[in-house]
Amino acid sequence: MANPKHRHSKQRKRKRRTHYKIEAPNVVACGNCGAPKLHHHICDECGFYRGRLIISKKVKAAPVAPVVDTTDETTEG
Ligand SMILES: [Zn+2]
Repeated sequence: MANPKHRHSKQRKRKRRTHYKIEAPNVVACGNCGAPKLHHHICDECGFYRGRLIISKKVKAAPVAPVVDTTDETTEG
């Protein structure tokens, strides 16, 4: 089992870790709908990639008002 022979100093450890950084994702505008999407990825909004429909997205239905049962009002009180 490999073991380090010598302990690395805090400075050496911290200098090494200066290269550990997150990068911003490569976001581009969709060619079909213009929504921001990841480069080389299918658009989340319309499902298009390189001008072709890959995934047909469900059309968002209008929110349906909850059905109010009128019989509840007569039972109360
Ligand atoms: Zn799109």
